[in-house]
Amino acid sequence: GMPAAPPPVLAPRRRSRKIKVGTVDVGGDAPVSVQSMTTTPTTDINATLQQIAELTATGCDIVRVACPSQDDADALPAIAQKSQIPVIADIHFQPKYVFAAIDAGCAAVRVNPGNIRKFDDQVASIAKAAKDAGVSIRIGVNAGSLDKRIMDKHGKATPEALVESAVWEASLFEEHDFHDFKISVKHNDPVVMVRAYELLAERGDWPLHLGVTEAGPAFQGTIKSATAFGALLSRGIGDTIRVSLSAPPVEEVKVGAQILQSLNLRPRKLEIVSCPSCGRAQVDVYTLADQVTAGLEGMTVPLRVAVMGCVVNGPGEAREADLGVASGNGKGQIFVKGEVVRTVPEDQIVETLIAEAERLAEEMGEP
Ligand code: SF4
Repeated sequence: GMPAAPPPVLAPRRRSRKIKVGTVDVGGDAPVSVQSMTTTPTTDINATLQQIAELTATGCDIVRVACPSQDDADALPAIAQKSQIPVIADIHFQPKYVFAAIDAGCAAVRVNPGNIRKFDDQVASIAKAAKDAGVSIRIGVNAGSLDKRIMDKHGKATPEALVESAVWEASLFEEHDFHDFKISVKHNDPVVMVRAYELLAERGDWPLHLGVTEAGPAFQGTIKSATAFGALLSRGIGDTIRVSLSAPPVEEVKVGAQILQSLNLRPRKLEIVSCPSCGRAQVDVYTLADQVTAGLEGMTVPLRVAVMGCVVNGPGEAREADLGVASGNGKGQIFVKGEVVRTVPEDQIVETLIAEAERLAEEMGEP
């Protein structure tokens, strides 16, 4: 049959140039990628590789590891070699670790020009080493560590200050004919952050790495990131994203992937369409939705499962989904592809839905 039309997106992608982060393309027409950062000590190679494996399994495309000391730098070759996804070394303060990371086989290096002393003098040698090794760079400007000259001029980390710093550092690399870099201008305030990326997006075709820094614990950080990334991605701005949470990095990847899926920037996987419940509900919708979600965790096919509390909107939504239940009178009507396939007592809803979901998923190619 005809190939399915791609799902609609809210805006065409901003035209950015494409760079390589190892095997992952960033920018241009490459899918928006999800990044995270390991929280294990980089010196603990096994623990770090284990965490990278978990991140990879969760849908992480690129991983960053901190490199604050020589011992960390010494661990990079083994990590870069054994990781299933490209590894970016995160370097602050010490340019010698930039060279160590390049020698270690890292796919890319993140530098923060604001806190590398005399960064401008180092750019030529960093650009040459990176170019020779085919390694890309992220210029990671951060509100908390903005270049002193720029802070003195602007008084605080305004969007204009973040962008001025980024454009200046970009120009230094470009003067050395180095173009394989992306830029981030992170701030903990989504409003400042969004404005900074909007301004930056107009100044050049650099691929952009989106991030809200220090976004906070999971609940607050998820909302801050989703709001800020949504504002930008919905207008086509952003080529790779990192959600920062004070929570395990696997959670960052789940949130990042869900943001992209919500905007049709990444194929949707399992989606639970559950109603918020209301005074009409004849079943405990929260528990039902939680149990169905838990029962289907890890499913990778784009199955839409509707869990509805009553028969007002229930059958309609349940029919639109691949599979669903509309509850009422102590019973659940189970719908598959728009047809009522059976009616079961309330205490059998969860097991019936899960069994039907597994059967459908198998038909859709779930391993
Ligand atoms: Fe309320 Fe029924 Fe709608 Fe759920 S489906 S929110 S119970 S009207």
